[in-house]
Amino acid sequence: MMKLNLLTPVKRRWLSILTALSMSVSALFYVTGCIGDNVLTTPITVTDYKLNTYVRIYSYSNVRKEILTDALKLCDTYEHIFSRTLASSELYKVNHKETNIISRELATLINIGLEYGEISNGAFDITIGSVSSLWDFTSETPRVPDDNKIKQALSFVDYTQVHLTENSDGTYTIDMPEGTCLDLGAIAKGYIADRIKDYLQEHNVSRGIINLGGNVLCIGQKKNDTNFSIGVKQPFAQDGSSLMETLSINDSSVVSSGTYERYFYENDKFYHHILNPSTGYPYDNELWDVTILSSDSTTGDCLSTVCFVLGLDKGMNLIESYEGVEAIFMSNDGTKYYSSGADKYIFRQ
Ligand code: ADP
Ligand code: MG
Repeated sequence: MMKLNLLTPVKRRWLSILTALSMSVSALFYVTGCIGDNVLTTPITVTDYKLNTYVRIYSYSNVRKEILTDALKLCDTYEHIFSRTLASSELYKVNHKETNIISRELATLINIGLEYGEISNGAFDITIGSVSSLWDFTSETPRVPDDNKIKQALSFVDYTQVHLTENSDGTYTIDMPEGTCLDLGAIAKGYIADRIKDYLQEHNVSRGIINLGGNVLCIGQKKNDTNFSIGVKQPFAQDGSSLMETLSINDSSVVSSGTYERYFYENDKFYHHILNPSTGYPYDNELWDVTILSSDSTTGDCLSTVCFVLGLDKGMNLIESYEGVEAIFMSNDGTKYYSSGADKYIFRQ
């Protein structure tokens, strides 16, 4: 089982695997750790701190470890495109008016962000950057920004003012008003996870897990007849390891957004990192968490934040309108709400 957010794989079913092995295969497989078809009983793993979080990749396919190391490096490649804070990134240059010609990949993600702006009627807005850059949730000593600065910054938040035009050479031109600052923090990890999955599949990894700090994407099935078990962390758990749910999934993504990811208290008031584009302050919508199950992780990352900003009723309606997407919402009294098809993914012993 893997714990979402905690990166700790729990090796389950060793006994049953060993029993099955001793009955059906030769001793050679004990030595190699393979159970046929190049499937490993213990995954190859690589881990590193990237994208401001712990990233871990597991392969149950027997491939060279360098494949996983190279896949991990894609985090750096994409950070140099999508980061709002890294001064060498493409997005930074756009936000600081150093260029208005952008790559197809940056245009693709911006366009996805704009579409969810439309879907959520502006409750989700990737031009939140002018405001989100005032809030520093990662600081050792976070502070509520000056209210006047928040009000000023709000005048630059409007996703409808951002326009993309395709150029003949495959690049795009982006037009947005002076002062607009794009923040792709709500959606980039999902997109990067999908690209890492593409890379791994191209290099013969047909069973594995990509975990970008709790943004989990599974490749294939753990082994024939065994799904991946993904644990979703209980928000604000005292011991830091309790789970609110365990999901049994194949070849799909599990992404959570919530108030407990990055927050601080000031004068006993709670502040978290998902901001209301009409006030500039954190949303206060009585939700702790939204977890999305979807086939790709871009959709999962977008919808987890979008459903959080829409709140329980509108968010759940949105999920019900999609085929093949399920959600679990947790309100701030700990109650869980499931979309109509979520039940089949809940792991029950
Ligand atoms: P995490 O980054 O913890 O995975 P999310 O995917 O929910 O969490 O994204 C939260 C991030 O989204 C914030 O840190 C900020 O960069 C950005 N953001 C905050 N409020 C909004 C909003 N209303 N619309 C779009 N993006 C937002
Ligand atoms: Mg998100």
